Amino acid sequence: MTLPAFFAREGRELMLEGVALNEIVARFGSPTYVYSRAAITAAFAAYRDGLGNYPGLICYAVKANSNLAVLDCLARLGAGFDIVSGGELQRVLRAGGLAKRVIFSGVGKTDAEIEAALGANIRCFNIESEAEIEKIAAAARRLGVVAPVSLRINPDVDPLTHPYIATGMKESKFGIAHADAIALYRKAKAFEELEVVGIDCHIGSQMLDEEPLIESLDRLLDLVDSLAAEGIALSHIDLGGGLGVRYRDEQSVAISEFVATVTKRIARWQALRRDTSAIELLLEPGRSIVANAGVLLTQVEYLKCGSKNFAVVDAAMNDLLRPALYDAWHDIVPLGAPGHGAQKRVWDVVGPVCESGDWLAHDRELEIAPGDALGILSAGAYAMVMASNYNSRGRAAEVMVDGGNCYLVRARETIDDLLLGEARLPM
Ligand SMILES: *Cc1c(COP(=O)(O)O)cnc(C)c1O
Repeated sequence: MTLPAFFAREGRELMLEGVALNEIVARFGSPTYVYSRAAITAAFAAYRDGLGNYPGLICYAVKANSNLAVLDCLARLGAGFDIVSGGELQRVLRAGGLAKRVIFSGVGKTDAEIEAALGANIRCFNIESEAEIEKIAAAARRLGVVAPVSLRINPDVDPLTHPYIATGMKESKFGIAHADAIALYRKAKAFEELEVVGIDCHIGSQMLDEEPLIESLDRLLDLVDSLAAEGIALSHIDLGGGLGVRYRDEQSVAISEFVATVTKRIARWQALRRDTSAIELLLEPGRSIVANAGVLLTQVEYLKCGSKNFAVVDAAMNDLLRPALYDAWHDIVPLGAPGHGAQKRVWDVVGPVCESGDWLAHDRELEIAPGDALGILSAGAYAMVMASNYNSRGRAAEVMVDGGNCYLVRARETIDDLLLGEARLPM
């Protein structure tokens, strides 16, 4: 098994950026999420390298991992942010992100969220329906401002991924049907409270092939031409996120090569147009920035052997939902030498939650003893953000390593945190 970048073995010890992960368990307890600043920085740099001199903005999809330190790290690198709620907007601003680099996606933006985003003066709303055009225009009128908008178009391209994370097909709840695009651009253009600035799509996640994205790009560029012919000039094209990562043995798309392919294709299209004003490229990567920058540390509590062997660990589906939700694979590795009396067997790694769906891995050969610590790899994206308090379990701590240093970036939840806001009956 190959470890993700910035992970290494020193003897039996698993290190992340030179910090022994066993020491993090000793210091901060278990379960704990750990993120590598260097890995996040490298993934972001790959996107930027791909852009080269082409005008563009990499808008990190906050929902993949919204910890303030992760956002802070990306804000310092000059990232933009793709948000899907008012809460994510607040996180970006509190992490030092610039509103001028925020784009707001999502099918269900409320009046309060739209007004907060207008008040903050974000860069653009990605509109997902006809009704949303009216809702944003009305909010802008109330506030006496002009809202910059883009329409999220459903290119109806199959991303060839898990059905729960395919978002760009005709049957999807997301985006505006390709066939309705022109009519809705005309409609948006007619509102003086709206400034139509862009076009976007986001067709799915964990895509291991660039072909569906290139096909979507071509479909959007065709629309940009048709719109230009009607006098609707767009200044950016946003291809969404969705590049896949290696969880097990997947061959992921090389980020900078992919981005360079996209910019070259746009430049070629541009060269054939009469309109020479450059169109800016926006991307909304989430998973490919953070997934392999994170690891969930957990400890073995019990070993139960029988017709099936179970390793019961202290992390559970409430900490990492992806196996239960998507049947997802995460590599699991020991953090150090096996403890006294370790047994080498094939284990189902499960949590203590009272659900048969509470599993983290099936059929893994591991040599382990109770008390041993394990690392669940590729846990930087869609992991802590989906954590819950099911079974009244406090959410895990989060730590960021940076060179030889490590920082607690979210304290483990206590029972008082869990009960905050709850009350008994008055009598
Ligand atoms: C989730 C999401 C993304 C990020 O997708 P990844 O697969 O994590 O890169 C980008 N844009 C929108 C609109 C999303 O909903």
